[in-house]
Amino acid sequence: MQTSRSQVRGVNIDAQTRCAHYRTALDIIAVKMKCCGAYYACKDCHEELADHPIEVWPQSEWAQLAVLCGACGNEMSIEKYIADESKCPACNAAFNPGCRNHYQFYFASAASTDRRL
Ligand SMILES: [Zn+2]
Ligand SMILES: [Zn+2]
Ligand SMILES: [Zn+2]
Repeated sequence: MQTSRSQVRGVNIDAQTRCAHYRTALDIIAVKMKCCGAYYACKDCHEELADHPIEVWPQSEWAQLAVLCGACGNEMSIEKYIADESKCPACNAAFNPGCRNHYQFYFASAASTDRRL
């Protein structure tokens, strides 16, 4: 079953899954949330639209397809997304490298025991 971009949830979402919070040319990925299994444009969209707290993916589940390229609709695993340095392995669209600073909001790595808010 193919996940289509129209299934991505978010606030003021556009055709490439940009949302009200992250709108630059490079902000085109959506992330499937572990808590509800739904794709959201970003964690802030989840916070506004979902009725429950976000859950992050433990590293043991990084093989799951949980990242969607808003440019081509390709789904990739968290591992692949993190390994592939800010571009889509299917269509080569560039992703926002700044997203790296937000990994901890979506993906729990063994290294991110840092609990800053
Ligand atoms: Zn959720
Ligand atoms: Zn958002
Ligand atoms: Zn792509």
